[in-house]
Amino acid sequence: MMKRLLMTLVVLTLGLGSSQAQDVKREITRVTGDVYRFQNQFHVNMFVVTGAGVVVTDPINQAAAKWLKAEIGKITEQPITHLIYSHSHGDHASGGTEYGEVPNVITHRNAPEDIDLVEPTVRFDDQYSFSVGGKTFELTYLGPGHGSDMIATVVRPDDVAFVVDVVSAKRLFYRDFPGSNVDHWMDQVRKVNALDFDVLIGGHGSAGVKRDAEQGLVYLEELRAEVLQGLKAGKTVDQLKASVKMEKYKNWAAYDTWRALNVEGMARHLNESGAVN
Ligand SMILES: [Zn+2]
Repeated sequence: MMKRLLMTLVVLTLGLGSSQAQDVKREITRVTGDVYRFQNQFHVNMFVVTGAGVVVTDPINQAAAKWLKAEIGKITEQPITHLIYSHSHGDHASGGTEYGEVPNVITHRNAPEDIDLVEPTVRFDDQYSFSVGGKTFELTYLGPGHGSDMIATVVRPDDVAFVVDVVSAKRLFYRDFPGSNVDHWMDQVRKVNALDFDVLIGGHGSAGVKRDAEQGLVYLEELRAEVLQGLKAGKTVDQLKASVKMEKYKNWAAYDTWRALNVEGMARHLNESGAVN
């Protein structure tokens, strides 16, 4: 009896071990009545069940989109009618074919023609809006900064904004702002803050509110000012990575891993842009 029990435990443990290797954290949260937040590991999208079809956003990747499509099928019998790509970076914009034949696919004009093997039906310049099943979707181009084809989507009447990578709720900015002009990036955050919304669904991190986007800009402005002051005083980047602590933000996500990288990226940008002289 004892031996058999031990055998069972061993088998169970092995079973857990092998499934853990492919364990992907996926979670759907209902943010307001018809607006949902889907998290796949560290990436998030938004989908909306309108009265006449489902509007989805970034597929994230093939497995995520396949899983989400099946889950949406459990929530509603309505088809997916619209797909909005926040921008073309592959970690958000991959696997859209898993959503099936979606009649309306919307990107910014600057998105590549071959985005995600899906042919966009709408490419817009500054603003685009459409209404479906009692919801209105207001899409706004955020300008260059993080990427060159970034758009924010606001859903009415829910007043929920979906904003990817440009700003996240209570979370530091991505590493050293790779490949980006940080002043342009800050302009993107200002454009987000100029939008009228209550709830923020970020492409990363937890859901938040308008104030979180505003605080994101305050963080960037304080970081910029402190790093610029240090560079003007002749400090090295390594010295600034040690001294610019941004302690007000130590409870934000990624503070321990990305604070020094944020300092480094800001310093690089300020040096390259000639702001120091
Ligand atoms: Zn991106």
